[in-house]
Amino acid sequence: MKGPIMRALSGVAAMTLAMGAAPLVAQGGPTDADLMNDAKSTGDVLTYGMGPQAHRFSSLNAINSGNVAKMVPAFSASLGGEKQRGQEAQPIVYDGTIYVTGSYSRLFAFDARTGEEKWQYDARLPDGIMPCCDVVNRGAAIYGDKIIFATLDARLVALNRNTGKVIWNKQIADYKEGYSATAAPLIVNGMVITGNSGGEFGIVGSVDARDVNTGELIWHRPVIEGHMGTLKGKDNGITGKLNATWQGDLWKSGGGATWLGGTYDPDTNLLFFGTGNPAPWNSHLRPGDNLYTASTLAIDPATGVIKWHYQTTPHDGWDFDGVNEFIPFDATINGKPMKLGAKADRNGYFFVLDRTNGKFISANKFVMQTTWANGFNKAGKPNVIPEGRPPAPGDAKGKPVFASPSFLGGKNWMPMAYSHDTGLFYIPSNDWGMDIWNEPIAYKKGAAYLGAGFTIKSIADDHIGALRAMDPKTGKIMWEYKNKAPLWGGVLTTGGNLVFTGTPEGFLKAFDAKTGQELWKFQTGSGVVGSPVTWEQDGEQYVAVMSGWGGAVPLWGGEVAKSFKDINQGGALWVFKLPKS
Ligand code: CA
Ligand code: CA
Repeated sequence: MKGPIMRALSGVAAMTLAMGAAPLVAQGGPTDADLMNDAKSTGDVLTYGMGPQAHRFSSLNAINSGNVAKMVPAFSASLGGEKQRGQEAQPIVYDGTIYVTGSYSRLFAFDARTGEEKWQYDARLPDGIMPCCDVVNRGAAIYGDKIIFATLDARLVALNRNTGKVIWNKQIADYKEGYSATAAPLIVNGMVITGNSGGEFGIVGSVDARDVNTGELIWHRPVIEGHMGTLKGKDNGITGKLNATWQGDLWKSGGGATWLGGTYDPDTNLLFFGTGNPAPWNSHLRPGDNLYTASTLAIDPATGVIKWHYQTTPHDGWDFDGVNEFIPFDATINGKPMKLGAKADRNGYFFVLDRTNGKFISANKFVMQTTWANGFNKAGKPNVIPEGRPPAPGDAKGKPVFASPSFLGGKNWMPMAYSHDTGLFYIPSNDWGMDIWNEPIAYKKGAAYLGAGFTIKSIADDHIGALRAMDPKTGKIMWEYKNKAPLWGGVLTTGGNLVFTGTPEGFLKAFDAKTGQELWKFQTGSGVVGSPVTWEQDGEQYVAVMSGWGGAVPLWGGEVAKSFKDINQGGALWVFKLPKS
């Protein structure tokens, strides 16, 4: 017996064993167990990150460093229309269908063999949406008969994956206050778990869990100290301690947007969510560490209670959102096998923590320059460089300082990958700085809340982007590939000794995972800022990526915009394979 029914049954059995509780049954289609097994099931791509731990690694090796030079397009499918902005999505592949989200909160289902469109859903967005950094979306989540994605007006929409018809549609938060949503949802134990966007508007970051079948809220966890969490409609404890790291009422508009979503680690049964910048950007207006902004949080998926936190940029003054994905991995450190997690932070440091308790293991620079801190001490605190902080403004524009990385980060949203074969993390990074200054600002609902200004600048003659292979045990960069324009796309690594990533110049590229040698490239017609995936279908290996230039860089790039002024917009899914011999 094969097919969806048997898969559902075996999923139920596995869940019952794993949880010792009543199983959550999906009506055909991927189950909880299937999602947890996604990294191992090479015939599909069911989760953002290609597994709940988001390693973005596939063991497939039919396409490999010996033959990738022959790879050719299988087909391309256009997103059509006039709504072509940054296409930052990662495709989901299931049962002969490729699901991709597009700019302006659109979701498409394409035939995985022919590229023909099966259906398209366009969210009806109100005029007043306030996305800070382009009208992007990073991908969907699949579960049972549903495909689910977040929209720019801060809603979560579940569609029937066969028809595109709406099953439920729930508000996450009020877009009129500055909230929006762009991350791919995470599904764990029958709950769809999301963050929120809006850190530039003085919103309050939170992580929310909803029933995947109804969209009803199960728990709500604000990530700023002082706010009350809820579980099944009842109070469930204040986050942190009121006024411990925030003065007065500043916590009420403290920011900390959880805008990139999270990862889940079945080994420790913990959710990991990063939190964004404290609001406003002007750090002199909010003395203190401002917990839990610019941090990684471990959260109990059953209750939404925070189990541990680690703050990567205490009292951030540079918009160093700590949202970057925290990736669980196991390694032996000083002869001791450990359950670890890694994060390449916007602040330019690559962190390794003990993921069971958040204990600091190491932080190593993965960019050319960090002007705000010079390394981290053994306690996990940055050796702060006081002159690196933009000074208080007084009554007018404050004195600018040069800061590096720029606020767009040593690494921004684009996800890194972790190879089970090489043990290396592949980080899509950027070397750039900025002049930044502070200004006076007062909070006003629904208005930008920065109190700062900036101009981004180049710091190297030959590149901004750099794909870097990081050894998490030593903190050494094993190889790097330099790119003229800023890198803004996700990374994939495979058992074929390959690393894939896209460039704004329009190429999807393949590199030797051990040496970094460039082995293949293909011009997709617009900038590649999506995340590539791979899967096996009808006995052949496929690679897919979205093409379509946009995102935060062309909006905020300042002087570095020279490096990408000739790149055209687009919106297409590209699928590749080896030619039949
Ligand atoms: Ca899979
Ligand atoms: Ca931010």
